[in-house]
Amino acid sequence: MNALEALYSEELTDERVLKRYYTKSKARLYDFFVKNMDRLPYFGRLRIGLAKLPTYIALVKEWGRVKLRPIGKVFGLYSPETNTILIDPVVMPELDDPERAWLRKYMDIPSGESVLGHEMVHSDQANTGLMDRLYRKYGQQAREYVEGAASYICDAIFGKSGCYGKLKAWFGSLVEKSGLKRAYQS
Ligand SMILES: [Zn+2]
Repeated sequence: MNALEALYSEELTDERVLKRYYTKSKARLYDFFVKNMDRLPYFGRLRIGLAKLPTYIALVKEWGRVKLRPIGKVFGLYSPETNTILIDPVVMPELDDPERAWLRKYMDIPSGESVLGHEMVHSDQANTGLMDRLYRKYGQQAREYVEGAASYICDAIFGKSGCYGKLKAWFGSLVEKSGLKRAYQS
């Protein structure tokens, strides 16, 4: 590597940071799927980008003064129509997102790996036809499978998170009954 290449490779662009997270999450998911589903996950031609996503806020009175405080936050999104994941830079500390310090005062911010991992499970669900099958079979209730499974799997890989507690527990009871592979493929 010459000096110029060394300089270039150390430059921490947003895309490089995102790619690093993606590579890590992908490796963990591959490992998990091989061990638990006897196959690799399938993401097709997945696109991933950074975007500021919605923060839900409320006006509250603190010590007699009106303040804005966050009551909910979308950290990641997956669109099955375009096979695209959008991730809010707030989950990657290296990106110094200005919202991060403020949000952290009020809520736990999940790790970038786990948010990406969650959306990548959705990509597997969409690209293997599982999502369509679930919606045909269960209508709107399919969402419980889809979110329950993604959150359950990401907790197993990346550690406990506060997301979708009830759906995760419900999916966990299916796993106990019939094993993860069958519960996932439902
Ligand atoms: Zn989800």
